[in-house]
Amino acid sequence: MQYFLNGVRTGNPECVAALNDRPTHSGHIDVLIVGCGPAGLTLATQLSQFPDIDVKIIDRKPGPLQYGQADGIACRSMEMFQAFGFADKVAREGYWVNEVAFWRPGPDGAICRTERIRDMEDDLSEMPHIILSQARIHEFFLEKMALNARRLKPDYDCQLLELSRGKHSVTAKLMRSDKRPFDVKARYVVGCDGARSRVRECLGIALKGEATRQLWGVMDVLCVTDFPDIRLKCAIQSVGQGSLLIIPREGGYMVRMYIELDELHGDERAADRGVSVDDLIAKAQSILAPFQMEVKEVGWWSAYEIGQRVSDRFDDGCEAPRIFIAGDAGHTHSPKAGQGMNVSMADAFNIGWKLAAVVRGDAHPKLLRTYSEERRAKAKELIDFDREMARLFSEKPRTAEDAKKFQRYFAKHGRYTAGVETRYQSSLIVHQADHQELTKGLKIGTRFHSSPVIRAADARPMELGHCLTADGRWRLIVFVGRGDRGMEALRHLCQFLQYDATSPLQFQPRGSDSDQWIDVRAVLQISHWDLDLNQLPDLLRPRKGKYGLIDYEKIFCADLSPQSGDIFTQRGIDRETGALVVVRPDQFIADVMPINEASRISRFFDKIRPNLLQGSA
Ligand SMILES: Cc1cc2nc3c(=O)[nH]c(=O)nc-3n(C[C@H](O)[C@H](O)[C@H](O)COP(=O)(O)OP(=O)(O)OC[C@H]3O[C@@H](n4cnc5c(N)ncnc54)[C@H](O)[C@@H]3O)c2cc1C
Repeated sequence: MQYFLNGVRTGNPECVAALNDRPTHSGHIDVLIVGCGPAGLTLATQLSQFPDIDVKIIDRKPGPLQYGQADGIACRSMEMFQAFGFADKVAREGYWVNEVAFWRPGPDGAICRTERIRDMEDDLSEMPHIILSQARIHEFFLEKMALNARRLKPDYDCQLLELSRGKHSVTAKLMRSDKRPFDVKARYVVGCDGARSRVRECLGIALKGEATRQLWGVMDVLCVTDFPDIRLKCAIQSVGQGSLLIIPREGGYMVRMYIELDELHGDERAADRGVSVDDLIAKAQSILAPFQMEVKEVGWWSAYEIGQRVSDRFDDGCEAPRIFIAGDAGHTHSPKAGQGMNVSMADAFNIGWKLAAVVRGDAHPKLLRTYSEERRAKAKELIDFDREMARLFSEKPRTAEDAKKFQRYFAKHGRYTAGVETRYQSSLIVHQADHQELTKGLKIGTRFHSSPVIRAADARPMELGHCLTADGRWRLIVFVGRGDRGMEALRHLCQFLQYDATSPLQFQPRGSDSDQWIDVRAVLQISHWDLDLNQLPDLLRPRKGKYGLIDYEKIFCADLSPQSGDIFTQRGIDRETGALVVVRPDQFIADVMPINEASRISRFFDKIRPNLLQGSA
């Protein structure tokens, strides 16, 4: 973490100096976020990084979530938490899912363990798969938001009633518990208001999917049991009693149980079934038999319904969209694959940097259309995956082969549930894969897969991906080719980026640091012991801030110690020519190109710059 750039200050370095004068733009706020679930809080935290963006986040609830709901944090979400700066807190408090056990009926009809597998394949992510209460995740977001310059806090007890879109703004009718409606004008509105989204209703968008919905029972319990795998994630399929998913929880004692109940039809609601916590306990006990389970305390429980449904689109459908939906407002699915919170946060991470860029005038509003394109495709894929997973889990296994089908499906899709399989199609911000052979393991359209490196100036071993923080900046990562030719190509590239009139770095706001919009980093193949920093281009040692201090954290060397090879080997990077990797602010790879094709970089950024596109707003 870098700080003290503009002077020494005491106290928590994460706490940014408060903005006394809070600029608003012509009477309206920039972004109104409806809903303080994981989607809304991710978006608010991302936008709160920019002191010049005026954000309001509301929720109709009286205060923050206290207990329950989702608990699974996929590796990809942990990578995103790292970018926000609190992954270490989540890892410290959470339960680490390292293995999964599968149980099914044995020859005598009693359940028995059939397999125990690793939860994640090697080198899937540097981050673990974690279980931690959604309420706790909310708290980390709230803490982070409150440290930023505007000290952003949610406005609770504030409900959205209506929305109407004008050409340049959206009017939202809101109401508190005093029942007196009032209007707020915003340039953009994002509905993160859950499965029964009012924003979605106001847009007239249909949520399409199955007519039947599954009723689920979920409970967090403290229990005493002789079931031996109670501290492992377990999928248990019984013949006559149904299926149970055990998820050990943080803290070492508590366990979550997901119990599949009945299907709901038509207008039937979960409440109509009158499910009680005693019903859930009895059902779990019958599935676990002959093992005993005595529940001592129930921390939280719920019976809730899930339909596999997805919205037609995630925005208002206009040429320059102003209203969006994210998270459960756009897609709902079963909790089996632990995707609810993760995919919702990923939606928000996708739109957050785009909104920031457009609101701040750094990008053309067309950029916002890529949100619905990218995230709806992802949601559709998730629904299909979830439907198959749900079907296999609910099937009554008649033979060993039946039971194995679910195990195989689970193991095969480990990458998917970890959240690292998302691949965006080519678009304004994802280039055609013309030079993919230069970085075989860093695929265009996927998230930047981190690998260990050594930061050259201070010899610090670290993950390269951890310098991709959630600050709205693009990254150009130069993997330098071998020998003198590699160094020469690096010098030419930096010369172009720093001085050429067509370089995208020329279009950063005047007077700002040179890495304000695009952050250039280099990774060399030589040992950091053999590197003379002064021989490297100035662009990689930029002078910043009011004192013109040198930023020493742009240059990395391959870490030659791992047996699996250095970053060039691990990510299949061409050692001879090297490669230039363009990474979006949400850590997805936008392009891979030869280092000597600098003009391609200019063409890429020209497409999103606000003043070069027709109809620029
Ligand atoms: C009771 C319940 C139990 C769940 N249990 C699990 C689970 O065990 N495992 C799992 O994986 N997933 C579970 N889920 C789903 C998971 O919590 C969601 O996938 C995830 O929270 C989605 O995040 P989100 O931000 O999109 O929406 P939500 O978390 O639903 O947040 C939406 C927010 O919007 C607010 N809101 C709604 N309408 C308005 C309005 N008009 N004006 C102002 N505010 C509004 C709501 O109060 C809420 O705080 C559960 C969901 C619920 C509701």
